[in-house]
Amino acid sequence: MDLRRLILVLTLCSAIVPFANTFYAGYAAQRQQLIDNTLEANYAYATKLAKSTDDFLQSALQQLAYTAQLLSTHMDSPEQLSSEATRLRLQTKSFNSITIHDGAGLVLATSPETLRLKGRTLYSDVVRESIATHKPVISEPYMAATGNFIVLLTHPVFSPQGQYLGAVAGSIYLKQENMLDRLLGTHFYKDGSYLYVVDKSKRIIYHPDSDRIGQVVDGNPAIEQVVQGQSGQTASTNSRGTAMLAGFAVVPSTGWGIVSQRPQAATLAPLDSLVRHMWQQTLPMAVLMLLVIWWSAHRIASPLRQLANGARTMDRPETAQNIQAVSSWYYEAQELKKALLVGIGLLHQNISKLRQDVHTDPLTGLGNRRHLDAALANLEANQTPFAVVAVDIDHFKRVNDSFGHGVGDNVLKQLAQQMREISRAHDLPCRIGGEEFVLLLPQANSQIAAQVAERLRRQVEATELPTVGHITISLGVASWPENSDDIPSVFRYADDMLYAAKHGGRNRVEVYEAHTPTPALPAA
Ligand code: GH3
Ligand code: MG
Ligand code: MG
Repeated sequence: MDLRRLILVLTLCSAIVPFANTFYAGYAAQRQQLIDNTLEANYAYATKLAKSTDDFLQSALQQLAYTAQLLSTHMDSPEQLSSEATRLRLQTKSFNSITIHDGAGLVLATSPETLRLKGRTLYSDVVRESIATHKPVISEPYMAATGNFIVLLTHPVFSPQGQYLGAVAGSIYLKQENMLDRLLGTHFYKDGSYLYVVDKSKRIIYHPDSDRIGQVVDGNPAIEQVVQGQSGQTASTNSRGTAMLAGFAVVPSTGWGIVSQRPQAATLAPLDSLVRHMWQQTLPMAVLMLLVIWWSAHRIASPLRQLANGARTMDRPETAQNIQAVSSWYYEAQELKKALLVGIGLLHQNISKLRQDVHTDPLTGLGNRRHLDAALANLEANQTPFAVVAVDIDHFKRVNDSFGHGVGDNVLKQLAQQMREISRAHDLPCRIGGEEFVLLLPQANSQIAAQVAERLRRQVEATELPTVGHITISLGVASWPENSDDIPSVFRYADDMLYAAKHGGRNRVEVYEAHTPTPALPAA
């Protein structure tokens, strides 16, 4: 992984992780709050409607009680009964129908009269209970003789002397428009919220979808709790599989349960839109930040990459210039650049020193054979004429033998120094063997070289050396291309001349002439 990606990943992680964390925590808290609020609101609403329903039932019983009071002296007057039944139904609008029956359940009057119950005897549980107990009764929902699914409220009628005469009963038709509709139906929201009422046996007695009235619902947690007489709140799933947030409360006088519920999705819809809105707001900024980070990462990594490339090619001459051109705009890159430049400087210094060392004789500091060969190649390439002076110390072994190798070395150094002094700027004094020296004289012919050689010979001869005293040298001279086109041959001639000088008594210069005969080799 490169630095740019690393910076990118680190920045993204450090930005995304806390953001996601905060976002999730905020989302979860808001979600829970919305759910809690909805549950609470539904609970409060169900409680309020349970109270209203109870009030309604109590007031309906009172209306029946009032009629029962009025009829206490008129139970034998069919007209009076019929007109009171009609008044009660139309004036109060609490009941869908009214029936008045005597102490045996025989119907004396109805409103509306289309019920066709008059003259028939009622046997329903509620009627029998009311006859048996002489008390007001609110029935469980049941299928009446008229074929309606109803709730019946009855109130006993007593004579002024307290004798039981029968009862006045008001019915609520659960599957038709009724008082519960007016009480409950006006209150449901458009977002899928609704409420329904169940009786003690989990049977639906009110529902906005009238087809559901009469159905028994099992397994709904709200209903299960409310039929136990508990009020509260719960999350549940309705018959269509929609997640609902329900509040429920019990109607005290009947044990009915009122369940008010709202789809969870409707409750959370504002949160979803909030989240969407937030993303829309955040995303462009995040993309912009990403681009800025990407660009910054590139700017940070770029000098390092260029410096690394430079470090890889440190030996090349143009590298220092390339590194100098790197824009190192921050401290570390600046330091790295400085260090690299110093390193390159040292490297080049070492390389040139090594190069020099490779061409230099360590004892005398003169050029060595490698240096000589390079110079010769150069001269040949440029067709520059030159002369060679081969130099050898006379009886050098004796110096070593008499005074030791160290003194011998000093003699070699001294000779090298004298060769340097006698050389012009472009002459090349070299040590090519133990005590074998060569003086290469570019642009010189044999004649000039002979003069230089003679001067050197005299200087050496004249110089008093510490410990050793005086030494002498023998010298051989040849020139290129004067003596031969072949450079090795020219060197051989110079050597031959040196040999001739030795043979001729030493401490002298011999110059190769075309006609000079090669001296005879000494007898083996
Ligand atoms: P000649 O006059 O014939 O040249 O006699 P010479 O004794 O000088 O004989 P030659 O040139 O063959 O001598 C070579 C001697 O040079 C052998 C060795 O002891 C000495 N020698 C070679 N290299 C070195 C060196 O690096 N240091 C020292 N001190 N002596 C060296
Ligand atoms: Mg020698
Ligand atoms: Mg010698």
